[in-house]
Amino acid sequence: MSQPLHPRTKEALARAFQALKEWSVLWNYTALPRTLNIVFNEAEASVMGTCHVASDTVFLNANLLQPRNESLLLETLCHEASHWMAFRRFGLGIEPHGPEWQAYMRRAGYEPRVFLHGEGAHGVDH
Ligand SMILES: [Zn+2]
Repeated sequence: MSQPLHPRTKEALARAFQALKEWSVLWNYTALPRTLNIVFNEAEASVMGTCHVASDTVFLNANLLQPRNESLLLETLCHEASHWMAFRRFGLGIEPHGPEWQAYMRRAGYEPRVFLHGEGAHGVDH
């Protein structure tokens, strides 16, 4: 990160990690917060997030750290963490946004929508 984080960004991040903890309970996988790596990058501005299963890493767009994007940060984190859960549990052969992924989103309280601009590329290793 090139700039110091805005205090509201720190609060948003703390809420995001708390939410991840809560989802991990709903998903019956409480090891999730300490298993999944979360990396913010500034590379591809049009992609909000990707899930890299082989390295247990979710990449999130650094634009999500802007305070006005907090709800998008939470939803994108949930979206990508749901990918990780679904691929880990059901294998890489499933449809990325199929019923397995949708079920994780719903259990976390989200309507499973694929809204993220250019989010087609998940960087999933096959
Ligand atoms: Zn997706």
